Amino acid sequence: MSFEKLGLIKPLLAAINELGYENPTTIQTRAIPLVLAKSDIFATAQTGTGKTAAFGLPILQKLRKTEGEVGRNVRAVILSPTRELSIQIHEDLTHFSKHMKVECAVLVGGKDIISQQRILKQGVDIIIATPGRFLEHVENGLTVNEIEVLVLDEADRMLDMGFTKDIRKIHPLLPKKHQTLLFSATYSDKVRRLSKLVLRSPAFIETSKKNSTVDTINQVAYLVDTDKKAALLAYLIGSRNYPQVLVFTRTKVSANELFLELQKDGLKCGLIHGDIQQPKRLKTLTQFKEMQIKVLVATDIASRGLDIEELPYVINYELPSVPEDYVHRVGRTGRAGRNGEAISLIDIYEKFDIREIEIVIGQKIPQETVEGFEPDPTIRRKDIDETSLKAEHKKPEKKRERQYNKNTSNLVKTRTSKKRKTTKRDQK
Ligand code: AMP
Repeated sequence: MSFEKLGLIKPLLAAINELGYENPTTIQTRAIPLVLAKSDIFATAQTGTGKTAAFGLPILQKLRKTEGEVGRNVRAVILSPTRELSIQIHEDLTHFSKHMKVECAVLVGGKDIISQQRILKQGVDIIIATPGRFLEHVENGLTVNEIEVLVLDEADRMLDMGFTKDIRKIHPLLPKKHQTLLFSATYSDKVRRLSKLVLRSPAFIETSKKNSTVDTINQVAYLVDTDKKAALLAYLIGSRNYPQVLVFTRTKVSANELFLELQKDGLKCGLIHGDIQQPKRLKTLTQFKEMQIKVLVATDIASRGLDIEELPYVINYELPSVPEDYVHRVGRTGRAGRNGEAISLIDIYEKFDIREIEIVIGQKIPQETVEGFEPDPTIRRKDIDETSLKAEHKKPEKKRERQYNKNTSNLVKTRTSKKRKTTKRDQK
């Protein structure tokens, strides 16, 4: 299949060619003709499959303006769960629309709303936004009655992050006849319920097995004691000549701790999580993309929307609390058919979590040990049942969090969240 055969117009074909895309990916082959034919879509596609172009290219084609045509109101909205992903989508759309007349704007929280309104006043065709910020603009008078297309990108993640209410509010505000394209990495009950609400006779596109990880990723879990994890990580980075690694922790506290530890080891590393201010996060991301940083330590908030070309290694320093997040994390590697490796460092407690992950991805992850870092067999506690083991595992985390906050408030510049109610978003 070629991009020409999908019915794309010349300015888009030229842009794709300049980006070096030779052939469409599966999701692009299937989605582009459907979007052009105005069908609603329910697609299960992970990041890395080329889904941004799958919806971005046909939307740009539908909304392109002819010479002299002026339109001031928004005609498409792309909602995404994070600022980073929104910015990434905006960048992609800017590349795709290089040879045509379409105005795109990104509206995310953490940026000045007045200057965003000023941009909107100049006339914008496509908005890429996080749901909360988009609603704020609607409440401030943004005209939405000419919207033809709504995209819910990474819908499962938006629901997980508590955006259900916002999406339910936004949907009825749009014209009855608009087209909705829903993309989700997983096929959860929540997503199914949302799809029933927002989609009309959708075409279903399933590009990979239910919740399966991308085929080109080599997955392995190394068994190691909790207190040896940092040393094993440093050893792996040093001894295996990894050019760059994205390392995931479960909590902001562990991310902070690990970041400081790796810095002490002399590694050039960066840190991204929900408490790091947006400009700092973007700067770190750019430094990582430009190879000035070797190790990027991140919580799950960063597992979406990071589009880093040819990232070969992802290390789960801690497994995620939700098994589905494993799919999102390892989706950072093996992108668009390239090979990647996902390594999980698992301690005795996480041996149970990895089983849950294997059930979700429908694959067995081989468990190995690294010489010199074998777990101490005497701390295996076969007589404790799984539930109490897991409960025990969670306890020290809380304790550590309190201790850490006390000790290190000046070490890493974070936004104080004392006054805010703790929400699920804060854990990211
Ligand atoms: P996405 O799933 O949209 O985040 O895309 C993942 C990566 O694949 C991005 O770096 C895209 O630039 C790249 N990509 C998307 N479509 C293609 C294609 N047809 N050929 C080669 N690379 C692509």
